Amino acid sequence: MNTRRLLLPAVLLWLAACTPAAPPTGMAHAPAAAPAAETVVEPPAERCSDRSGWNDPATPLRIHGNTWYVGTCGISALLVTSPGGHVVVDGATPKAGGLIVDSIRKLGFDPRDVKAIVLSHEHFDHAGGLAALQEATGAPVFALAPAIATLRRGASDRSDPQFLVLDPFAAVADVRRVPDDGVVRAGEVELHAIPTPGHTPGGTSWTWRSCEGQDCRQVVYADSLTAISDDDYRYGDDAAHPGYLAAFRDTLARIAALPCDILVTPHPSASGLWGRIGPDAHRPLVDAGACLAYAQTGAERLEKRLADEAARAAAPTP
Ligand SMILES: [Zn+2]
Repeated sequence: MNTRRLLLPAVLLWLAACTPAAPPTGMAHAPAAAPAAETVVEPPAERCSDRSGWNDPATPLRIHGNTWYVGTCGISALLVTSPGGHVVVDGATPKAGGLIVDSIRKLGFDPRDVKAIVLSHEHFDHAGGLAALQEATGAPVFALAPAIATLRRGASDRSDPQFLVLDPFAAVADVRRVPDDGVVRAGEVELHAIPTPGHTPGGTSWTWRSCEGQDCRQVVYADSLTAISDDDYRYGDDAAHPGYLAAFRDTLARIAALPCDILVTPHPSASGLWGRIGPDAHRPLVDAGACLAYAQTGAERLEKRLADEAARAAAPTP
């Protein structure tokens, strides 16, 4: 006999028991950010590590104050909350969109209270889940001008250094330009956009203030800074993409100079996040030198990349 058939009704009953009853009529609607931060139950975290896969589910957890980790073990996504509405930062991979929504719910927040979505850069591993996130939340995606067409198409063009090796992703229906003052707002949340082109043309870093009682910190979600490309692209070929290398160097200087208490990066391993949050944390979360160190690593890699390009160009053709 199939035991699954016997078990199923029991599971359905249990699920029904877990579904909250509708509020009695006449009851005031709950405020947008239903649970107060203090009442949110923080479950024990999964053991994510630098070797985790991009789609490995992670237990959502608080990073600091109103800033929560809702990504997978291998790709970051953050939720920044306020009583008047929330912002999601990054959509991670195509498979991660649903996991991010689950994580928001697990923390006790309502995905429909997400009023804005922003992203680091227009690649499938950070924008792939945006369409699903948008569907679940109804929130617009805010992006800088160079990323908008790519997000609407779900595909990059030759202005992206990795164009020839990138996977497409689900096109995003409602993409809006970041307001002219560079601030995306939702409720009391204010996320400041910092244009950081280089890894992609539309690369964007984000910064905001997070307070835990009197302990207020500047969070920086710094975009990927790696100079990496397909075989056709050369960062040093200024004729092919005028000004792009100079803009990349400006990006590195901008990140290095940011007020930066807590650094988080789209690839958590790039900023050693699992050594700073979760069950295996052994280093302080707050490190005022983190952005500088991150920018220096990016700059070294860019200079090495340019040297390699020059060496290849100078080598005699076989
Ligand atoms: Zn990328």
